[in-house]
Amino acid sequence: LAPAEKTLLGHPRGLFILFFAEMWERFSYYGMRALLILYLTKHWLFSDGDASLTYGAYTSLVYITPVLGGYLADRYLGQRKAVLFGGIVIAIGHFLMTFEGSGGQGDPTISIFWLALAFIIVGTGFLKGNISVIVGKLYPRTDVRRDGAYTIFYMGINLGSFIGVLIAGYLGEVYGWKYGFGAAGVGMLLGLVVFVLGKPLLMGRAEPPSVEALSRRVAGVPVEYIIYALSLASIGLIWALVQFQEVVGTLLLVSGLALLGYILYIAHMKLTREERHRIYAIAFLLLLQPLFWGLFEQHGAGLTLFTDRYVDRNILGFEVPASLFNSVNAAFIILLAPLFAWLWTSLGRRGMEPSTPAKFGLALVQIGFSFLVLVWGTQAAGIENATPVIYIFLLYLLATTGELCLSPVGLSAMNRLAPWHMAGLIMGAWFFATAGGNFMAGIISAAAGAENAENGGGKELYLQVWTTVGWIAVGIGVLVLVVAPLVKKLMHL
Ligand code: GLN
Repeated sequence: LAPAEKTLLGHPRGLFILFFAEMWERFSYYGMRALLILYLTKHWLFSDGDASLTYGAYTSLVYITPVLGGYLADRYLGQRKAVLFGGIVIAIGHFLMTFEGSGGQGDPTISIFWLALAFIIVGTGFLKGNISVIVGKLYPRTDVRRDGAYTIFYMGINLGSFIGVLIAGYLGEVYGWKYGFGAAGVGMLLGLVVFVLGKPLLMGRAEPPSVEALSRRVAGVPVEYIIYALSLASIGLIWALVQFQEVVGTLLLVSGLALLGYILYIAHMKLTREERHRIYAIAFLLLLQPLFWGLFEQHGAGLTLFTDRYVDRNILGFEVPASLFNSVNAAFIILLAPLFAWLWTSLGRRGMEPSTPAKFGLALVQIGFSFLVLVWGTQAAGIENATPVIYIFLLYLLATTGELCLSPVGLSAMNRLAPWHMAGLIMGAWFFATAGGNFMAGIISAAAGAENAENGGGKELYLQVWTTVGWIAVGIGVLVLVVAPLVKKLMHL
């Protein structure tokens, strides 16, 4: 057997190249994300509200650009070149984050910070979706190992997130922001090394669809280089956009509705009755995404500020920096993902597996309760006392079991329900819907910002906001459970 055809744990060895490359990319993404809100409020002295909206705009743009990156890879670059280019751009972004200047309002160095965000956003557009697509391309169309491959890949994502948050968070909060962000950059470089060395193991499956189209010259310059040049130029546009967060919100809303309209239009004009019903089921699931991530993404925003200010972070005699708690989600995923995979198959064997829409309902109920549990725990301990850290762990536990009912389940549902010629578009729409949630997270977190609190009651305001959004999520989750059987019929499975 040629080296590329040998398997490891029953999977093509290329899967492990993608596992480690994506692990390092997520190391950099989540390491930086854990520090971001603290960096904005403590170093640049943003208000909680401005910092939260910036966080929301940034974390939504990183999930919007994969729609374009996916299109360019399908049409011209192929996924391997797209991932390589994206990884380089991301690494530059993280290294730009190490220019922290003197901080505070009015320090012009902040322009470099905005530029750093723009680099990471554009680079992620080329990398994130495409590396996930290569995973599937290692397998023949009907291969039963594909679901298992994505579970392994999802564990790689979270392993990266876990160590990235611990290392970058610790360095950033204890030694200085730039060391944390620099560590993120080094992580991304390691990912690139793995990806470049592992090229032969990808078996040529992620190469450009047409070499001629890519090397064709326009005005003397090959198309490939034009794509890279235009993408680098677009960083300037994103640099401006990310500074005007309301514009990002409007853009999301308008283009989200247009995207939904377009998908429904195609469903009406071009698809059979069964395919059309499946698109309705997809639209139903997509519309629930913003609510789930709107709560979930509080983790890196308001929740990190709350943990920093109001939680007793003393564990076994160590004062644990607030950013580090973001790693708890990843740790629970690594522990629980195999358990959930087993749970679904064993329930399935008894004909008792909840349907996909029912799982989404359960996810909303759990994410809602995750915040309510923190609220109740804080009140039980007495609001004037530091909140016991156990409630942060409980919040992450419920958020993670919720995530496992929605995120991997949704990815595979998009794959199964979309007519094959719309698969890329639907996957793009999935990440786009995530982006809507991330933006909402910024708004929710901004609403709870200390500057909105009366008489310095910042802690109380967090509890009020989370009680409201928590019950909304639980309520909608219950409604979803009620209508789930109808949506399941639309899936024609
Ligand atoms: N945690 C997963 C990842 O980082 C999913 C994130 C999402 O869909 N928003 O890939």
